[in-house]
Amino acid sequence: MPAASTDLSARLIFPTKEIVEEYYLPIIYTACRTCYSEQVPEQIWDKAVSRQVADEKQQNLVRKVMESGHGSTIEHVNFTFAISGVTRTLSHQLVRHRAGTAFDQQSQRYVSFKKRDNYTVPESITKGELPDDLAGRFQQAIDDNLELYGQLLQAEVPAEDARFIFPNAMQTNLIMTVNLRQLIHMSGLRLCTMAQWEIRQLFKQIRHEIFRVSPFFGSFLAPKCVALGYCDEMGNRDEHCRIRPHRDNVMAVWEAYRGGRLSETDGPVVAETSPFRPRPRRVPLPVTGDDVVPERPVAVASESAGDADRV
Ligand SMILES: Cc1cc2nc3c(=O)[nH]c(=O)nc-3n(C[C@H](O)[C@H](O)[C@H](O)COP(=O)(O)OP(=O)(O)OC[C@H]3O[C@@H](n4cnc5c(N)ncnc54)[C@H](O)[C@@H]3O)c2cc1C
Repeated sequence: MPAASTDLSARLIFPTKEIVEEYYLPIIYTACRTCYSEQVPEQIWDKAVSRQVADEKQQNLVRKVMESGHGSTIEHVNFTFAISGVTRTLSHQLVRHRAGTAFDQQSQRYVSFKKRDNYTVPESITKGELPDDLAGRFQQAIDDNLELYGQLLQAEVPAEDARFIFPNAMQTNLIMTVNLRQLIHMSGLRLCTMAQWEIRQLFKQIRHEIFRVSPFFGSFLAPKCVALGYCDEMGNRDEHCRIRPHRDNVMAVWEAYRGGRLSETDGPVVAETSPFRPRPRRVPLPVTGDDVVPERPVAVASESAGDADRV
């Protein structure tokens, strides 16, 4: 039985680490600095790329501009991923992202699949002790479909028609090019613990790949709640995912404060919510009272942020 999700792979094929290190930060810095400078962009670029402006200074400006939500500045850089072994279930979700992306996907019209094991069975089926031989019957149903597919091809039914028998479990390959702004947006949605498991695994690999070439850019890829400072998923109103408090609870505290049921104090001290800081700054939260939500563990933007198993 094909193992669950083990074939899934996302590799950053362009740019290389060297190109990212040399050019990506200066490009974004130049975009940001141009907005606030009398110098022409070419001058700004020359200073940035020659490191007359140190990386740390460039990163500080980029971070500030991103914190202010000026997202066009990070649309100037792109990343291209080779994605393979993902299911059609995943690819259907992936290609729903329209802005700032380009996709090319293996065709089920032009490819007549000879392999009969290029599908994925979810862990809930392979690992679960399901009654009535459900796991075996699931497997058999797919195998029967693929057997029929082969027979249809032999009977000279075109592949574009024979494929109608394929299940969502069929694996596929894509090339995805995406700019940094959209990659952050997509990661915000797809690293969320509410996202479907397979696409979440894909984005964990994508985040790992970006960290490989740039920990600075990688640190921006996190579940959307990390940047927002709260969770806005209706399915998490019970806060079973504890990366960030739910918006309803945040608003309840705010309403209690505005209604005078919380009073100002010197503490407690909590981590600042900005995801764009290399280290969380600790700032006083000047309220106290019975309605305060209990303190939660706070994840900072790191390669592990958003991994529910680890927060
Ligand atoms: C957990 C989860 C569950 C989901 N469940 C379902 C489901 O049950 N059914 C379903 O159909 N879909 C579902 N989706 C898909 C979802 O509705 C979006 O289509 C998908 O996430 C693409 O994101 P996006 O809309 O932000 O578009 P993107 O293309 O990623 O666009 C990025 C941003 O650009 C802006 N933008 C892009 N295009 C336009 C436009 N035409 N007009 C104005 N602004 C634009 C928006 O601000 C948008 O957020 C789900 C997604 C997630 C993450």
